[in-house]
Amino acid sequence: LLTGAAATARVTVDLDAIVHNVEVLQRHAGNAAVMAVVKGDAYGHGLVPSARAALRGGAHWLGVAQLQEALALREAGVTAPLLTWLHAPGVDFAAAIRNRIDVGVPAIWELDAVAAAAREVGETARVQLKVDTGLARNGAYGPDWPALVDAAARHVADGTISVTGVFTHFAFADAPHHPTVQAQQVRFADAVRDCERAGFALEVRHMSNSAATLTTPQAAFDMVRPGLAVYGLSPVPDIGGPSRFDLIPAMTVSANVTVIKRVPQGQGVSYGLTYVTPRETTLIDVPCGYADGVPRAASSVGPVLVGGQRCTVAGRVCMDQFVVDVGDLPVQAGDEVVLFGTGAHGEPTAQDWAEATGTISYEIVTRMSTRLPRIYL
Ligand code: PLP
Repeated sequence: LLTGAAATARVTVDLDAIVHNVEVLQRHAGNAAVMAVVKGDAYGHGLVPSARAALRGGAHWLGVAQLQEALALREAGVTAPLLTWLHAPGVDFAAAIRNRIDVGVPAIWELDAVAAAAREVGETARVQLKVDTGLARNGAYGPDWPALVDAAARHVADGTISVTGVFTHFAFADAPHHPTVQAQQVRFADAVRDCERAGFALEVRHMSNSAATLTTPQAAFDMVRPGLAVYGLSPVPDIGGPSRFDLIPAMTVSANVTVIKRVPQGQGVSYGLTYVTPRETTLIDVPCGYADGVPRAASSVGPVLVGGQRCTVAGRVCMDQFVVDVGDLPVQAGDEVVLFGTGAHGEPTAQDWAEATGTISYEIVTRMSTRLPRIYL
């Protein structure tokens, strides 16, 4: 059993790092509350343990994209205020209302569906209106915004909903001096005033993701809504890595060497034989692949740490495994291979993987498949 467990690649999550990161974010937020964003299985870190750690760190709210994620938190016994903000037609708003989950609403059809569910349940639904201030994504845009406020006011008057919050999302918070960062704040302040004029009893007004929380404190309003920084990754790698903001990356991905072989110069490696050994060398097989979330784009470029030495993926990443050229490094079956972690011990970081594979650290951690067991420290 032990051998089997050791042969499995795994995701190790340092929950104390999440606690610490939320404390750091709370300091940046000043008097504003922190809503820790735990969608996407807490960016791959595991929904419930990560949410609990964020609450231990002082988060007052938790935010998710999908209602199922919020319901999973309630089923696990999490009683903190929850907001969910992305709903397809047909979603079970009655379940949200019964579980006191705030529903983020960007459109009138959704408002009407929430109000209908509230009538059915016989309770007042908690709604937060989402305004589009320039991202042109999910949120009421242009004339749809005053129409949404008017429709909400009618539902408030008939007792089906209360508007507990208003929120928006930045397009370019990772470039704090970009003119849209200021313009979106101005538009959001106007939208908040629209809600106040309509007489809504707002509890929270919020727009700041991780980047804005760390670099644009004047945008905090009543609450900030960071995700990535909760997990210790920098949302603004051009400005600085995690240590610049006193963040600690929470996720380490590692595996153990299975097969080792000594091969001559000129040996092609893995499907398509795209990597050819430049000299006699040692190849190791690492048992995790794209079914585990290792990007296939890491073929021949993904960095790993083996025996204290940085090496590179050799040839194509396969579904369940990849090969590494370790040169003359002495290795044994079972030796640990670290794909990424905090970087404190010489291992690559999620940011290094992002840069090697042409993506962002968000995607690197979030895509780690549930096939990899999560080990919580
Ligand atoms: N708020 C909303 C609406 C989001 O979609 C996200 C994530 O994309 C966040 C907050 C958190 O953003 P970040 O992870 O950049 O802090």
